[in-house]
Amino acid sequence: MKDTAKTRFLDATDVARLVGAIGVPVAIMQLADHVRQDFQRWEQFEKSARLASHSPVGVIELMPVTDGVQYAFKYVNGHPRNARVSMPTVMACGMLAEVETGFPLMLTDLTLATALRTAATSALAARAMARPDSKVMALIGNGAQAEFQALAFHALLGVREVRAYDIDREATARLARNLASVANLSIVPVETVHAALAGADIVSTVTADKTRATILTPDMVRPGMHLNAVGGDCPGKTELHPDILRKARIVVEYEPQTRLEGEIQQLAPDAPVTELWQVLSGRMPGRAATDEVTIFDSVGFALEDYSALRWLYAAARARHAGRHVELVAMPPDPRNLYGWMMASQEAPHASASHEAALA
Ligand code: NAD
Repeated sequence: MKDTAKTRFLDATDVARLVGAIGVPVAIMQLADHVRQDFQRWEQFEKSARLASHSPVGVIELMPVTDGVQYAFKYVNGHPRNARVSMPTVMACGMLAEVETGFPLMLTDLTLATALRTAATSALAARAMARPDSKVMALIGNGAQAEFQALAFHALLGVREVRAYDIDREATARLARNLASVANLSIVPVETVHAALAGADIVSTVTADKTRATILTPDMVRPGMHLNAVGGDCPGKTELHPDILRKARIVVEYEPQTRLEGEIQQLAPDAPVTELWQVLSGRMPGRAATDEVTIFDSVGFALEDYSALRWLYAAARARHAGRHVELVAMPPDPRNLYGWMMASQEAPHASASHEAALA
């Protein structure tokens, strides 16, 4: 065990304070670096498509990955109608464990880290795929992920103007308010998707609706645009008209998962795609011509969450964030679980006063 015999536990406020202390742009850049490093050693990971449990209103998913040294998994949901009951669309938590013993090193909220790693991965892909002179981004869907997307493209690509559209005007107004003080970044609220795309070099679609939506149609897409399609991430949940996909260079995270969940579920099963690791390791180009339309068909892959956990664990240790909890039983004699249970009846428990307060 590397840290202590107890598991480091970060609740949502611990993570928020940690990220706040580091600063969101710095956190996104550090995280992007972790994602890049991990995708560049792609072949070392045991990978699988996530296990998804669908219901009429949403999805709950488990996302495991390991490199043989550490094991990570994320629990995450996607419930686009949750806003109606004042709950987020996406909520997540996850664990980092050591493979040598199986001991859980850290249990943490991953809701904020999901937004950070999604934005970091989007910007990392765009850095390899968008035209290098890209300065204007259209941001369609201005919910929980939106600020992180804008800040990631600002930090990693130097985007200076974000043309923001949402069917909910208050969402766009909130985005503009939240980012009003960011230097050299202007948020321009617009009234239609067409207006958002006018003059845009990059388009991020980050909407939430459990349907085959066509947020973008072929007439809106100009030669040379890079599309960062984030909101289509489940079977039956897409954002782009299929004709846009047929004429573009498409990069995905992990092909077996994206065939089921991404925009490319609308294409033939053998339609050509490139995996992000191939682009980030220089084996395949992200863009072949200035006038090419490029698409990052993002669904979110377990490796990005491993990168986020790896980054969070190091940051939490360095800044003494969170606390240590007895997440798993650790009897002094590991084969005497029963004896340890009996001895626990008499020993004072650290959280006894908390339990009394709850009662
Ligand atoms: P959210 O519910 O907080 O925000 C979604 C926003 O989209 C809302 O403001 C809503 O009004 C807007 N919207 C819905 N339909 C629209 C339309 N037709 N045109 C314009 N705006 C529209 O959700 P969120 O947490 O920001 O997540 C956004 C999407 O991204 C979700 O679909 C989620 O599943 C997905 N997501 C993907 C990844 C990934 O790795 N690819 C990671 C996180 C979230």
